[in-house]
Amino acid sequence: MNYNKKTILDVDVKGKKVLLRCDFNVPQDKETGAITSDKRIVAALPTIRYLLENGADVIACSHLGKPKGEWKTKLSLAPVAKRLSELLGQEVVFASDVIGPDAQAKAKALKGGEIMLLENLRFHIEEEKNDPTFAKKLSDMAELYVSDAFGTVHRAHASTAGIAAYLPAVSGFLVAKELEIMGGALENPKRPFVAVLGGAKISDKLGVINNLLDKADTIIIGGGMAYTFAKAQGGSIGKSLCEEDRLTYALDMIAKAREKGVKLLLPIDTVAAKEFSADATPVVVNTSAIPGDMEGLDIGPKTVELFCSAVKGAGTVVWNGPMGVFEFPAFAKGTKAMAQALADSGAVTIVGGGDSAAAVEQMGFADKITHISTGGGASLEFLEGRELPGVACLQDK
Ligand code: AMP
Repeated sequence: MNYNKKTILDVDVKGKKVLLRCDFNVPQDKETGAITSDKRIVAALPTIRYLLENGADVIACSHLGKPKGEWKTKLSLAPVAKRLSELLGQEVVFASDVIGPDAQAKAKALKGGEIMLLENLRFHIEEEKNDPTFAKKLSDMAELYVSDAFGTVHRAHASTAGIAAYLPAVSGFLVAKELEIMGGALENPKRPFVAVLGGAKISDKLGVINNLLDKADTIIIGGGMAYTFAKAQGGSIGKSLCEEDRLTYALDMIAKAREKGVKLLLPIDTVAAKEFSADATPVVVNTSAIPGDMEGLDIGPKTVELFCSAVKGAGTVVWNGPMGVFEFPAFAKGTKAMAQALADSGAVTIVGGGDSAAAVEQMGFADKITHISTGGGASLEFLEGRELPGVACLQDK
């Protein structure tokens, strides 16, 4: 996979109409539909400002929620246009359709340095089906395509991949940063390269583990997925999470790591409890001897020390998945210690999207991390080394 892609800095944008794929899939209040965090809109501002200041017209587009081809008022992007306009301090023209007459007319009327937002792309079922006629209609409004929605680059949709058949395609600043930092870590990491994997299930991370076995110097496994490894090695894990159908895989992986000279670190102690609940009493036990009526909910203090000292000496750290049930404060210590270790490490630190990103932000370490990926699924597929359709379609440098 080539990560060296052209960005908006490599092309002339002056006087061009630019179709900009953003990630405006903002969280909304379930009842009122009001935007509950504008973080994603704020994140899009540098690319938008650059394009406007350099004489382009921006035709922004995004999906919101899962309307699955139906026009749902609650999933309209109109409130996003309003918030974007407040943040930019400039009018954002809103089209009441996506590829229809309103959008086409409003796009035509843009006069240089102006911005409009199309209605929710997924109001058309053709978007997720990567329908070429839909992609062509989108492209008719513009002369250049800019991809800045990293969260959807692993999807081959009309606005993320199909569109590049009709327009020159480059990345915006958000996607460029993801490619530069994550691509750099996979292709030419500062060593030692330490990968920290956690979360609930091994099965979600098989591809990542396989890919990183060829790239990392150390792989650390925490979270619920560690107990399958403990059981595979003959341990008693009580009621802890276990994927019975992955026991052989776990043993194979231990053998593979040994073969390849990759250091594989697994928890030696565990914070367990009798119930899966926020007010369960935490008890520290040996990971290979968890009592039958208990389940492991966090890594224990000795494991914290072991894992954090590996992170301390790292040149690059990639982290995906919490070390325990961090949603319960009594079982968040391992995840917090890991976040702190990354923040203090001096290494290039990359946190995959989803739960580990949420944990780092919640715990206040976000500004001490080199890069927090904006895409959960996309960053996992990136770490798997898979070809991402929304990246592959961009012009090579
Ligand atoms: P994932 O989406 O696979 O990264 O998993 C994140 C989820 O894994 C979080 O909601 C955690 O609460 C959960 N998790 C982490 N460790 C454990 C554990 N030991 N037992 C149960 N769930 C866990």
